[in-house]
Amino acid sequence: MSEIIPVERLTKPTDVFRCTPLNATISARTCLARRGAKYTGGRTLGHAPKEHTAFLGCQSCELGAKVAAQVQLKPTLAPCSVCGVSVKGAKGREPRCPSHRGQNSIGKVA
Ligand SMILES: [Zn+2]
Repeated sequence: MSEIIPVERLTKPTDVFRCTPLNATISARTCLARRGAKYTGGRTLGHAPKEHTAFLGCQSCELGAKVAAQVQLKPTLAPCSVCGVSVKGAKGREPRCPSHRGQNSIGKVA
């Protein structure tokens, strides 16, 4: 088990601290993931699905705000599936850079 670190001394996403609101010992990464967690609601004909906050208590948590200030998560980098350029915050199996995003690029040869 990792050593519990006071929030003021957290440096890495893997550092664990005592989350008093949750009454649990969690890693900084877990805390930040819960803060940013969203889920998409069901689709209704004619309406775009809504995004909901998964953990309201975590999103507005003051302790979590301190954790976020101490520990910066690196954005996930993945190569563009068309040109291979690194894409920040890439999602899905075929990440695309800004110039290869959108309907226009589908079917085109790079
Ligand atoms: Zn690209």
